[in-house]
Amino acid sequence: MFKYLAGASVLALMTSGAVLAQDHDHDHEDVTLYRVFVGDHAAPRVTVVDLEAHEHEEEGHDHDHEESETWTFDTTGQVKLFGIAGGSVVAAVQSDNDAVHFFKSGISFEDHGDHSDIAVTAPSAIDTVLTGPRPFHLVDHGGSVIINYDRGGYAEILDGHHLSHGEVEVTRLPQSEPHHGFVARLGDHWLSTVGTPAPAEGQEALPRPGLQEVTIAGQPVGDLATCTAIHGEAFSGAYLAAGCKEGVLTATAGEGGVVYNMLEYSADLPQGVTTGTLLGSTGIQVFLGNYGPKGLVVVDPVDAPHFRYIELPFRRVDFVLDPAKPAEGYVLTEDGTLHRINLLEAAITGSAKVTDAYSMDGHWNDPRPRIAMAGDDIVMTDPNAGVLRIIEATTLEEEDTIKVEGKPYNLTVVGGSGVQH
Ligand code: ZN
Ligand code: ZN
Repeated sequence: MFKYLAGASVLALMTSGAVLAQDHDHDHEDVTLYRVFVGDHAAPRVTVVDLEAHEHEEEGHDHDHEESETWTFDTTGQVKLFGIAGGSVVAAVQSDNDAVHFFKSGISFEDHGDHSDIAVTAPSAIDTVLTGPRPFHLVDHGGSVIINYDRGGYAEILDGHHLSHGEVEVTRLPQSEPHHGFVARLGDHWLSTVGTPAPAEGQEALPRPGLQEVTIAGQPVGDLATCTAIHGEAFSGAYLAAGCKEGVLTATAGEGGVVYNMLEYSADLPQGVTTGTLLGSTGIQVFLGNYGPKGLVVVDPVDAPHFRYIELPFRRVDFVLDPAKPAEGYVLTEDGTLHRINLLEAAITGSAKVTDAYSMDGHWNDPRPRIAMAGDDIVMTDPNAGVLRIIEATTLEEEDTIKVEGKPYNLTVVGGSGVQH
């Protein structure tokens, strides 16, 4: 059984919308607002749309929507979007254009103990733009936002709190070789993937050997933890996990330093495939990873069985975890069906057709839907239809569509519920 994370960060819960404002004896208004940042597949542009609060419980309630407020911002190229610093900032990583833009989301929370205050202003671009050779993975954990520059041989570390005030100041952490990897903060430790030297002509590059603790100056500390072809990092509870050829490597901050554990793939899993993308739950200590094109795997970092496989009817397009309902996740398959996944049962518990088919044949970066959570709803980009689809998570029924110019593609959602006094 998974450990339930009583100490899950208040910010994580607030960005998930799990914190409900409590009753007050003074004048106040409960406000729920989710704000969707959407990148276009081709145009260097981010569109921002507010979702109004849906009232699921009211029977016969007509969703009589007012026109949503919309903003657009220019970028340098196609973006991958990340809600960071508790959702107060959105980062737009542009791997093919060597740039990272930041936006103030305009939604911030202040913890008042028994409730949180929510403050809402218009989103705005932060003037400072980072540039560098192929920024790719971004890790936001432990108060540090860290961007790996795959062709630079370094990562840049930003302070999440300073970012929330619009201050972009970087500390550069050098790596031994430029490579497609990540740097993550685990307590007081910095962990970096390790690359291999560029191969001689006609030779194949060796796979990345693993994960290494380093000082902020990039000096190795202790031994390298083997994790062949390491890719895909996620946090849940006390654990960092990453996918490897051998299994899933976990790391925790122990009293004597970083403790590594290799969870080897079990014999009952499909053979010849690995996990390379992991998501970490904020409510229970569990990970959900890809496992071959038609599979997902539930990873328990503590108790056996460490792996439980979920076979999907078609190839996977995108998957998310539900921060408000920690036992649940959702996965879209290429036939256009959205499935609800129960992590405790490692099973599909519901499916519904939500869009036209999007074949996984072709390039990984071809325009296909992406999904994200917004409280009780799943928000899905539908690039061919030029819309966002708002789908109720409990029924998998579409509640609303919002037109977005061009081909809406990558997205992130910030916001939640709070009180305005
Ligand atoms: Zn208050
Ligand atoms: Zn990657």
